[in-house]
Amino acid sequence: MKRALITGITGQDGSYLTELLISKGYQVHGIIRRSSTFNTGRIDHLYQDPHERDQRLVLHYGDLTDSSRLVTLIEKIRPDEVYHLAAQSHVRVSFDEPEYTGNTTGVGTTRLLEAIRMVGVDTRYYQASSSEMFGATPPPQDEDTPFYPRSPYGAAKVYGYWMARNYREAHGLFAVNGILFNHESPRRGETFVTRKIARAAARIAAGIEENVYLGNLDAVRDWGYAEEYVEGMWRMLQADQATDYVLATGTATTVREFTRYCFERVGLDWEKHVRFDETYLRPTEVDALIGDASKAQRELGWKAQTMPEQLAHLMVDAETTALGR
Ligand code: NDP
Ligand code: GDP
Repeated sequence: MKRALITGITGQDGSYLTELLISKGYQVHGIIRRSSTFNTGRIDHLYQDPHERDQRLVLHYGDLTDSSRLVTLIEKIRPDEVYHLAAQSHVRVSFDEPEYTGNTTGVGTTRLLEAIRMVGVDTRYYQASSSEMFGATPPPQDEDTPFYPRSPYGAAKVYGYWMARNYREAHGLFAVNGILFNHESPRRGETFVTRKIARAAARIAAGIEENVYLGNLDAVRDWGYAEEYVEGMWRMLQADQATDYVLATGTATTVREFTRYCFERVGLDWEKHVRFDETYLRPTEVDALIGDASKAQRELGWKAQTMPEQLAHLMVDAETTALGR
């Protein structure tokens, strides 16, 4: 049985990737953070009693700031594949906590890569790189587009990208950067804009709330469906050669349009319910991200299926269903 290690297993992507790898026969090991409240809600449906035989999902406490623990875990698990998804992943928060974001999202990557090198395990490594690295460079963006990050998060991801590439070139590690454009789902964190809007539309339609407060409605993003993107991550690690890939839909949508899609789904006029709040503006904004994923299509046979309007509908429907429960 192949063994995979996932950092960030409790996050949106970690939960979908765990489902995918278990369905492919892997034993999945995940690193979780100790917390005073439960943080495993997205993977609870996959939980197995640790006393059962043939465990398919094994959880370990750990943190990206704790190098010795990362070494211990790599030594103990000796994974065939490592998916490094853990990060302080929120752009707006990274302006409030730039040092912490650098420590986890940036240097945390080096700690993990160095743990792999020190233990000397033969593994394949996936780095969760981000379209935020392109920042101010105009679209369309692909694997050869220059980086111009516009946030501490984007800068930390650029550092992680180059560290993964350096371990590939310097130490021969099979290390791959997946440069993923925004991908969303009903499991997306509640403070990311798509989930925030989908949730608000459902709650306003149900009479629970009246308005939602948003920042910049003009930003353009390339929003795909997370469940499809984790399949792309897995394909990158099955390729013959380690190289970097963009995953995206290639479709441009403004925050305003996404809002309209969500409110229309529940029969409401978005303009009557959206209010402006400057707290949601960023000191430097990324105006437009639109990805060109033709390399992934050509070499991995991967193509996004769910387009932004359909995504908005499925997210609103999931919120409406959740309210009914
Ligand atoms: P989430 O924010 O949903 O999940 C982040 C995960 O990282 C959580 O499991 C979190 O644990 C964990 N984590 C955070 N800090 C630490 C730490 N110090 N030590 C250990 N674990 C930690 O992110 P997504 O699933 O959406 O994204 C996965 C990765 O892909 C991230 O690196 C993100 O930056 C990147 N990415 C995401 C994109 C997207 O559109 N979703 C686009 C491009 C890149 P906890 O649950 O305890 O908070
Ligand atoms: P990001 O692309 O990783 O920053 O993902 P987000 O979902 O956090 O933000 C996407 C875009 O929505 C950015 O351009 C934000 O400026 C914009 N936006 C507008 N209003 C909001 C809001 O209330 N919350 C968030 N998170 N983003 C907002």
